[in-house]
Amino acid sequence: MKFEAIAVENIPLIQNGDDLPLIICENVELRDRDIVIIASTIVAKAEGETFRLEDITAGEKALEIAARNGKDARFIQAVLTRSMEVLVETPFMLVTTLAGHTCVNAGVDESNVENGFLLYSPKDPDSNASSIGKELEKISGKKLSVIITDTNGRAFKTGQTGVAIGIYKIKPIKRWIGEKDLFEKTLEITEEAIVDELAGAANLLMGEGAGGIPAVVIRGLDYYCEDNTFIKEIYRPEEKDVIKKGLRCLQKNG
Ligand code: GDP
Ligand code: MN
Ligand code: MN
Repeated sequence: MKFEAIAVENIPLIQNGDDLPLIICENVELRDRDIVIIASTIVAKAEGETFRLEDITAGEKALEIAARNGKDARFIQAVLTRSMEVLVETPFMLVTTLAGHTCVNAGVDESNVENGFLLYSPKDPDSNASSIGKELEKISGKKLSVIITDTNGRAFKTGQTGVAIGIYKIKPIKRWIGEKDLFEKTLEITEEAIVDELAGAANLLMGEGAGGIPAVVIRGLDYYCEDNTFIKEIYRPEEKDVIKKGLRCLQKNG
């Protein structure tokens, strides 16, 4: 058994309005059932999500948080603009984004963006994955899956990894429940987060710095799914999320 991960080389610095599917197809020959993995940074750049702090006006809530955590209120405003809930304010902003993804700073970042500019994370990455996927399929004539990734930290561990934030035609979870282990015991709870594992694998080729590899093709694994799929399937339902409950408690008790 083996699979391949292929870095898509020669992608230019992406600008507002660039046609990502076309650029990707010009630089890699896609095959049926390839999984095209794309860094959210270039999706956001293509959508014109760059901004300057100078152009942000901090609202009341941002000013309050800034008074507590000492960060730039305009930056906090940018994070709040893309958040539906703040779970931690200090020493960093841990939020749930409008799309339901929980991460630091709502993915607002300045790395790999022109000096003086920051970048929002894509607002609706599932919809980006789906429109990019459809266009990639149209240009290449192949059946494809797409994963849009970002780099996130993890609770309990140092070190960041690639994670999936938007998907197209790939089931996010492989359910092992009901399958047998080596000793004929039935598996009861294991659900494998396929799209995060693939994002992590692709991130090995992307790296975090000046590598200039914002897209990777994974070939040789069959996770293609005829129907469109949604990343929110992977977000734990509110009532089962004990970590979020704990964080809300901490916030209430100052
Ligand atoms: P994120 O994980 O989505 O936040 O993306 P990163 O900022 O970590 O970048 C991932 C990879 O994409 C790195 O290899 C970057 O050098 C590369 N990258 C980011 N922006 C661009 C771009 O506009 N053009 C190219 N060719 N590579 C880029
Ligand atoms: Mn990022
Ligand atoms: Mn990254």
